[in-house]
Formats: sequence, C-alpha cells, structure tokens
Amino acid sequence: MDEYDVIIIGSGPAGLTAALYSGRQHLKTLVIEKALAGGMGSMVPHMENYPGFDEISGKQLIELMKIQTLKYAEIQDREEVKKIENDPENEYMIIHTSKDIYKARAVILATGSRHRELGAPGEGQFLGRGVAYCATCDGPLFIDRKVLVAGGGNSAAQQAVYLDDIGVLVAMIHRRDNLRAENYLQALLKEREIPIIWNSTIEEIKGDVTVQSVLINNRVTGEQKDLPIDGVFIAVGEIPSNQLALDLGVELDKQGYINVDKSQRTNISRIYAAGDITDGVNQWVVACSEGAIAALSAYNDLQIKK
Ligand code: NAP
Repeated sequence: MDEYDVIIIGSGPAGLTAALYSGRQHLKTLVIEKALAGGMGSMVPHMENYPGFDEISGKQLIELMKIQTLKYAEIQDREEVKKIENDPENEYMIIHTSKDIYKARAVILATGSRHRELGAPGEGQFLGRGVAYCATCDGPLFIDRKVLVAGGGNSAAQQAVYLDDIGVLVAMIHRRDNLRAENYLQALLKEREIPIIWNSTIEEIKGDVTVQSVLINNRVTGEQKDLPIDGVFIAVGEIPSNQLALDLGVELDKQGYINVDKSQRTNISRIYAAGDITDGVNQWVVACSEGAIAALSAYNDLQIKK
C-alpha cells in the first residue's frame, strides 16, 4: 500500500493548488480525481478576473496548473475515492479508491460541487440530446441553432455570452425579473443583445429523438406556451459534492458545505477542505487561495506531529 503525507481529493483549482503547495514543502503528495483534472473550474468559458491573464479559459488554466503541479506531486485521473477510514489513534488514514488503497497522514477535501438539476420533465430523457450543462463542452454542437440558457447567475450569463460568441442563437430564461449575475456579465448580455425571457420557468422539455420545444410558464401572467427550440443549457446553481465528508463525520453547514476555520481545517484533525466544497465566494482565485492555505496548514500540523 503506497504511503503519502498528503492526499488531495479533487483536482479543480483548489486541489491542484493544494498539491503544488504541499509538494513544494517536500510532503509526498497525491491528487486523486474521479474524472479529468479541472472540475467545474475547467468549464468556465473565459475569465477576465484571474490575476496575470487578460483573458484565459478555465480549461487552459487547468492545463497550465496541471503541468506545474506534476513537478511536485502525483495526479491520478479517473480514479474515484470510495471510502476513507480514519481512526484518530492511527497516524495514517486509509483511502480506498476504485483502483487501489493508499495511506495518508493528512487529507484535503477539494471535491467541489456539481450542477443542480432543473427538475423539469424531459431533462433526464434528453440529456446529451439537446439538454446540456456545459456550454464549452457541448456548445459547438448548436452553432446556428436555437438554444435557451436557464438561470440568472454568473454561470448562466457566462454560458449565454460564450454560446453567442461561437454563433449559437441563444436566449436566456430566468424565473425572476432581474439577474444575480455580476454587472460586467449583464453589460455583455446587453451589448450582444441576447434576449432574456423574464419571470418564466421551463415546465417541460419536449422532443422525439432530440429536443424540439420547451413548455414555458410566465409566473406573473400564468400564461403557458410551447417554444420551439433545439437545445437547453441548464445553469441553475450548484450543490456541494459532500458524500465523503458526510461519511467521515466532517461538520457541514445547513446547505451541505464543509465548515472550515480560517486555516481551512475541518472539525476533524488532519482533514482540511478547500474550494467550492466550502461555502463562500465561488471564484477561481479564492479556490486557489484556499488550496494553498489548506496545504500549509497540513504542513504545519504534520511538522508538529513528527
Ligand atoms: P447561482 O449564482 O446560485 O445562480 C443560480 C441561478 O439559477 C439563479 O439565478 C437562480 O434564480 C436560478 N435557479 C435556481 N434554481 C432554479 C430553478 N429550480 N429553476 C429556475 N431557476 C433556478 O449559481 P451559478 O451561476 O452556477 O454560480 C455558482 C457560484 O459560482 C456563484 O457563487 C457564482 O458567483 C460563482 N461563479 C462565478 C463566476 C465568475 O466568473 N465570477 C462564474 C461562474 C460561477 P434566483 O436568482 O431567482 O435565485
């Protein structure tokens, strides 16, 4: 069984930064990622607020970070952590994955969040056949075709702007009469004249083999109508990926995010959390910062234990 000082679960911006800092402290470090590096962070079409870059996509930045991190730490992609055994009497926690078993003196949970579903009939049925959650992944399939983006936050606005950029005929649908997206994104929507269907929800996604229309409901007038459409991008928020934390008995807040102190420590010794799995501002730069702090806290705690 391979032994590590620090095992980091999740390789989004928080997980990779934690690995960079941990490895550079000469702690033997492994990142385990159930899919491919990046998490939700790699789905951001373009960022203009990551320091040092006028503009960069989440995917590009993740690739650069991965190359840098690999100088100091190991990364296992496509390997899912199934269980963590933690006996406080033992120096090592035992990490069971889909492929192997490892020992770690400290664990950093950087498991992030996943897309919230709309819950409309047809959403599951047409997933991958007109229903999508990631504009950068699936947007190119809809060039010159009509799509709706559901949601009023930063993700929905960013996806709409990206889809417009690549030549998709995009409109937004939002359940209220104002967006929660940041002002600069709202300005971009206006500049590009992207239509917004206000005060409205998608009640059903309809089609045959692929999506053909959506039934929309105006929450103010009560009017319902079928809108012909080729695709629906759903961006109605995120839910924390907290199953491992729950199993470990890590303390969560009411929304299911991990409670951490200012050093990213959880209520359990030598278990830390960073990035979107903790509550707060979901920004790339914040996730990176939390990852760095978690790794340095682990370093300090492991030094003290030695
Ligand atoms: P979000 O900010 O929570 O927004 C979710 C949107 O979906 C809200 O407008 C909400 O409506 C709507 N919504 C929720 N449930 C719905 C339902 N059942 N039916 C219809 N609409 C529904 O989520 P997000 O945009 O995914 O962003 C998540 C976090 O990541 C936020 O903290 C965000 O700031 C951050 N983020 C930042 C950037 C950036 O570049 N700075 C980019 C992406 C994400 P209401 O407004 O009515 O509640």
